[in-house]
Order: sequence, then structure tokens, then C-alpha cells
Amino acid sequence: MSECLFCKIANREIPLELLYEDDFVVAFKDVNPQAPIHFLVVPKQHIPNLLELSISGELLQAVNGAIRELATETGIYQTGLRLVINAVEHGGQTVLHLHFHVLGGRLLDWPPG
Ligand code: AMP
Ligand code: ZN
Repeated sequence: MSECLFCKIANREIPLELLYEDDFVVAFKDVNPQAPIHFLVVPKQHIPNLLELSISGELLQAVNGAIRELATETGIYQTGLRLVINAVEHGGQTVLHLHFHVLGGRLLDWPPG
């Protein structure tokens, strides 16, 4: 059995409210939100980081579908959002299972720190 936190969440080994699920991804609230709306879209497949993702139309479509649906549900479809992928050490990745941060609900600064 995988020791990976996001595999355990995706496999339902860790009880946690999912905001969205389909064949390819799950989405749930970030435990340490950096904006009024902050959720993570996580592929069910264990892909360690963005650099090890080989482009799959199905996966990208699922990520896009989850973002669009949850942006509508959370009310940020009109105001906008930021999609962030932290990759490896200098990108600030702390959970080594590819995930897409979706942040919204306030005006976000640029550039990031
Ligand atoms: P990153 O630093 O890009 O790897 O992002 C990992 C994110 O996962 C952080 O924003 C954490 O707050 C979030 N996180 C870690 N553990 C959990 C958890 N059990 N449930 C929800 N979010 C989590
Ligand atoms: Zn994993």
C-alpha cells in the first residue's frame, strides 16, 4: 500500500471531504488555505511532479473540468483564479504527488515570493 499522502486521500484511505471526483482526479480543500478559496486538484495516478507528467489529454481535460465546476460552485468563476503547480525543490513542492492549487476569492499579488 502506498505511503503517499495524496494517494491515500485519492484511494479514500484517509477520510476527507472530496469536493469533486471523476475517473482521473479528486479535489479537496487545502488544509492550510492561502486565499479565501484554495483547493487542490489531484490526479488519482501517482505522478511525483510536473516534470514527470507525460501529456495526457484525458488528464488535462479532467483537471480543467474539475476547475471549471468548482470555480462555478465556489463563486469565483466570474472573478477569476490562479492555478499553481509547485514543482520539486525550488518550486516549493512539499507533497511529492502532482497537484494543482486553485486559488481565488481575493486579488492575488504578483510576482509570488
Ligand atoms: P505543495 O507545497 O505545492 O507541495 O502543496 C502541498 C499542499 O498540500 C499544501 O498547500 C498543504 O497545505 C496541503 N496539504 C498537506 N496535507 C494536506 C491534507 N491532509 N489535506 C489537505 N491539504 C493538505
Ligand atoms: Zn501519490
